[in-house]
Amino acid sequence: MKLKDPSLLRDKCYIDGSWISADSGEIFPVTNPANGETIASVPRMGEAETHRAIEAAQAAFSSWKDRTAKERANIVRKWYELIMANQDDLALLMTMEQGKPLAEAKGEVAYGASFVEWFAEECKRVYGDTIPEHLPGRRLVVTKEPIGVVAAITPWNFPIAMITRKCAPAIAAGCTVVVKPAEDTPLCAFALAELAHRAGIPKGVLNIVTGVAKQIGKAMTESTLVRKLTFTGSTPIGKLLMKQCADTVKKTSMELGGNAPFIVFDDADLDAAVEGAMLSKFRNAGQTCVCANRILVQEGVYDAFAEKLTKRVSELKVAPGTTEGSQQGPLINTAAATKVSELINDAVGKGAKTVIGGKPHDLGGNFFAPTVITGVTDDMRIFSEEIFGPVAPLYKFKTEEEAVRMANDTPFGLASYFYSRDIGRVWRVSRALEYGIVGINEGIISNEVAPFGGVKESGVGREGSKYGMEDFLEIKYLCMGGI
Ligand code: ADP
Repeated sequence: MKLKDPSLLRDKCYIDGSWISADSGEIFPVTNPANGETIASVPRMGEAETHRAIEAAQAAFSSWKDRTAKERANIVRKWYELIMANQDDLALLMTMEQGKPLAEAKGEVAYGASFVEWFAEECKRVYGDTIPEHLPGRRLVVTKEPIGVVAAITPWNFPIAMITRKCAPAIAAGCTVVVKPAEDTPLCAFALAELAHRAGIPKGVLNIVTGVAKQIGKAMTESTLVRKLTFTGSTPIGKLLMKQCADTVKKTSMELGGNAPFIVFDDADLDAAVEGAMLSKFRNAGQTCVCANRILVQEGVYDAFAEKLTKRVSELKVAPGTTEGSQQGPLINTAAATKVSELINDAVGKGAKTVIGGKPHDLGGNFFAPTVITGVTDDMRIFSEEIFGPVAPLYKFKTEEEAVRMANDTPFGLASYFYSRDIGRVWRVSRALEYGIVGINEGIISNEVAPFGGVKESGVGREGSKYGMEDFLEIKYLCMGGI
């Protein structure tokens, strides 16, 4: 399959408006997880190039922030239009480097673009406050200003949306950005930069650097020019980056791991719960931080739910993402498939039962069979670890209190879900769940107008919505006397 516009396939980094190789000339390959083939090779940059990108971002900051909000909005809006106009090509690039089915990739391009559209609109509404004076002859005013140069580090599971969800609010607010995309998925990032360039986003406002994560992360966190780090990825790396940011007291936003409970109560609409579980669990082959990780089912409907879910899982079409009708592509790499096998083996070794799947898929490579396991209990590794694969573990509970206790029995607190038609229970459980996001009779919760983010060790800050803009703004208080 070929791109309609081959110039969207870029293999250099984008710094200060130019396409650049690593100082050393070194490159590393980007492979297709469906067949292991190399799609392109991209620069292996380190600290020196990252510092130059940061300097370019700093140089661009003063004039970008001084444009009117309307001027920035128009340019960011143009970026949105170009992303949507190139939806097919971006989706194809994504499927090639990340593996997700083409239909899902197209959905992600639209989802990713929705943040660009939203923040182009939202930046015109960055209002301040006036505060009634506490003494005569004073006037107290609060203004909001862009925080400065932002460093963004993103993961491979949503190669476009995780970049736009950070860069669109930052750029619309008047900040400038240096992005380090995941090693597995730099091509979508470069394509976004190419479109930003065409949209008229000035040089230095958006920069993309690929290479050695540790070195790039070090340069980003030690730089006094970078005023904010926004990260999506694993909890251990998030903690490390927060520590590294302490020395220069940077503001941070962290979207880290999850361990989402998906609770099905006896009074749930069972068919709706099965559909919600399919979407929440098997989207992106289970590789999202909001995927249902523990499906807790009340004893009265446990068997019926397991049967209905298994039937739906048996209908999933596993195939390379570019194959017509594919619903589940490969996992990102061999290590991911191995981890999923290990978690299943541990659970089965401790008494769980595989109802369907449970092993690598017959297609071989990184493909894994969609799996349902029953009789899962909280002493198994799968209860406390993020699966990041197409495995639905079903736990049984008796009472509402027990379900809530199990759901909260984790250091994580990103997304949670429950299905119930009892209005009292809906309010009780919504309040009791220690999570940043609660899906109630819904399996898909993320969109550009609502705040996405976690509590506890799942992170700090929110993305999307009016709150997502606040994360890129500083408050300035003007105290005027002598009036
Ligand atoms: P995942 O398990 O999803 O790969 P990671 O947290 O390892 O999660 O990766 C998320 C992002 O963090 C990727 O872009 C990766 O390259 C980057 N990363 C990993 N280690 C570091 C590090 N020491 N410093 C900066 N970035 C890092």
